[in-house]
Amino acid sequence: MTLDADWAERWVRRAAEAVEAAKDELTELDRQIGDGDHGENMHRGFQAVVARLDAAAADTGSDTAAPGGSAREVGDVLKTVATTLMSTVGGASGPLYGTAFLRASKVSGRPLLDPSSIVALLEAALEGITTRGKATVGEKTMVDAWSAAVDAAERTARDGGDEVAVLRAAAEAADKAAFGTIPLLATKGRASYLGERSRGHEDPGARSTALLLGAAMAAALA
Ligand code: ADP
Ligand code: MG
Ligand code: MG
Repeated sequence: MTLDADWAERWVRRAAEAVEAAKDELTELDRQIGDGDHGENMHRGFQAVVARLDAAAADTGSDTAAPGGSAREVGDVLKTVATTLMSTVGGASGPLYGTAFLRASKVSGRPLLDPSSIVALLEAALEGITTRGKATVGEKTMVDAWSAAVDAAERTARDGGDEVAVLRAAAEAADKAAFGTIPLLATKGRASYLGERSRGHEDPGARSTALLLGAAMAAALA
């Protein structure tokens, strides 16, 4: 499997589908410990991303062209995601995911990704989120899922895993870490206003991160 710009586009389109399917679940999670809009926020953002990708494909008459006629890179697709999420998603998650995809786009300026560049992409995204939101691991946020994903991806790449293995490890670790937020006390974001009452609920942003990384893996299998 080659992870190129077409993979990135499949990733993003699958992410939009996954977010749509899980919209009510994400909203319900956010109703428990936040303001009940995470499903709607993510759905609005990813619908806008898909609309941008559709418009770009219609414009160029092909889905493989980039501005200026050069070969499209993974980073071009991720940059579109970043700017669209930043401008369409209100709430904390818009700027956080926007920054994640922007940082990721900057380390993905090449036609093909290998296992170590997947690790770099995930690391850059995590750094974007922590720079922006100042949360550390264990504060019951999306950082918990991203951070577990980065660690698992690093380990798998170091052990010689291929692109799909690295993405699978990242997705599985994010999924597990999202469930792992349930007993935690929230100390960042809206959920922190609940104090001890934030325990016993899964963090919505950690769950949406698991969905996004699951889509990245599924896109690599397609
Ligand atoms: P809002 O809380 O503004 O309504 P969303 O509901 O869309 O925004 O997103 C909430 C999610 O954002 C949380 O579940 C959490 O994962 C994430 N989040 C909030 N604040 C932070 C932060 N400072 N750092 C990392 N993630 C955060
Ligand atoms: Mg919310
Ligand atoms: Mg909100």
